[in-house]
Amino acid sequence: MSDPAMPNPDELQRKLSEFMRTQFGERVNVQTAFVPTAPADAGSDEPPAADPAEPDGFEFHYRPRDIKAHLDRFVIRQDEAKKVLSVAICDHYNHVNHVRSLAKEDEKKAATLDYSKQNVILLGPTGVGKTYLVKHVADLIGVPFVKADATKFSETGYVGGDVEDLVRDLVKRADGDAEIAQYGIVYIDEIDKIASVTNLAGGRDVSGRGVQTTLLKLMEETDVPVRSPMDIQAQIQAAMEMQRGGSGKPKRETINTRHILFIVSGAFGGLKERVARRLRQSAMGFGAAQQTREYTDAEIFDEVTTKDFIDYGFEPEFIGRLPVRVFCEPLTADDLFEILQRSEGSILRQYERAFAAYGIAASFPEDGMRVLADRAGTEGTGARGLFTVCERLLRDFQFELPGSGADGLVVDAALILNPAVALTKLLAGGQTKLDEQLAKEADHFAADFTEQHGVVFRFEPEARVALVARARSENASMRVLCERIFKDYQFGLTLIQKNTNRAEFVLPASAVENPDKFLSDLVVESYRT
Ligand code: ADP
Repeated sequence: MSDPAMPNPDELQRKLSEFMRTQFGERVNVQTAFVPTAPADAGSDEPPAADPAEPDGFEFHYRPRDIKAHLDRFVIRQDEAKKVLSVAICDHYNHVNHVRSLAKEDEKKAATLDYSKQNVILLGPTGVGKTYLVKHVADLIGVPFVKADATKFSETGYVGGDVEDLVRDLVKRADGDAEIAQYGIVYIDEIDKIASVTNLAGGRDVSGRGVQTTLLKLMEETDVPVRSPMDIQAQIQAAMEMQRGGSGKPKRETINTRHILFIVSGAFGGLKERVARRLRQSAMGFGAAQQTREYTDAEIFDEVTTKDFIDYGFEPEFIGRLPVRVFCEPLTADDLFEILQRSEGSILRQYERAFAAYGIAASFPEDGMRVLADRAGTEGTGARGLFTVCERLLRDFQFELPGSGADGLVVDAALILNPAVALTKLLAGGQTKLDEQLAKEADHFAADFTEQHGVVFRFEPEARVALVARARSENASMRVLCERIFKDYQFGLTLIQKNTNRAEFVLPASAVENPDKFLSDLVVESYRT
């Protein structure tokens, strides 16, 4: 190569940093690059990059029914969404399977195969399981999944870069496997916020249209560089590798978005009203009786047309790339109850584990769950309300109970309605248990003493009480306390035994209060007899 000599890595990094900063300002930060297919020490002993046509561990073998059954374990309700999503997912990945096996025989044919991608638009209020559905689908089929808010893109100004970062994030999620990343799922929430019409509530202006165009490119097919142009270190590594010259097979430089499934979602507030109005107007045509009927969200969203989305502020090409439309229903208090009770992802399991870590068995009987669900229902944030309500209720218990001696927590309706009283009671009960434990430890000390020193050594009940009180007030462990206050007893008691043949010593409370005096009195007395 006739290129000028490369500066050393540090110098290169400094120069590049300066250059990038002058170009892009402070938004550029130097960080450890994530370049999965081209680590810094890439050498000839690196495994060659996978050939896209070669099997790479991804194999799809589910039927819609399997996917729905999996989702049913976690997601309550949303039956229609589960079905539609399951079918779309199967179509998409069966197509991927097909293209991959076709590519082995005829790459060109595989590359040009006609297919309209089953990208999905999920409509519905917040906290009803939209993300949860997609996450569990991705988990099941073993593809990486990333989520982002569409609002983020329009705010940053550097639209193209951020959108492409989504695809690069898929590689991260796939532990650096750029091949698997190409079959990942990109989930974009709050898509309604990038509508480009300003006269609708929540709508945006042209910047929304810009984001739509960039997203559209990704949704169709484009190559995204594995290294971000904003990531200085990745660029340095690329430059260094180029300087070293091609050793081994070239690394994958780009991620093709052809097989990435895009799922977008939003609450589409204004859209709902617009369609509802249309429904009411057309109902009026059929007579006054129907005029006052309220439509359910499901009914309204069923009537949404492509034109509605376009009027809402979406480019026809953009909405055209989202052929699968699903509506997720709002969740009632009964649904929230079911989520608590039945979902494998129920927040209650999490609390049970959190308390179990401190030896506290937490349980959530039905009457308690009912109150929690009712309260969460009034929050208006779907299942997220459950998190809020549980956190608010249990935070004091989570702080106070560990180490308090309490080993059980029953979150029933009575506790929820009067948590302070319940907590006080639990703490008092815990203290009793701690005291019993301390008393037992005192007896263990006495038993060990007896065994080791050949004199029977015991505590009177009052002495035990006094020891427990002392251990508590000195915040000491019982054994350490006993070893300290009775340190001279081995010598003293064996002496007494020698003098008097006395073989049993039962200590009263006074021995705990003033151990040295008690022992010396005994010794003196033993000489008298
Ligand atoms: P969104 O619809 O806003 O995407 P999420 O899917 O993020 O809501 O829901 C937040 C959390 O609430 C989930 O992680 C899950 O724990 C719980 N959740 C929401 N909807 C459901 C549901 N239908 N069934 C079970 N859990 C749910």
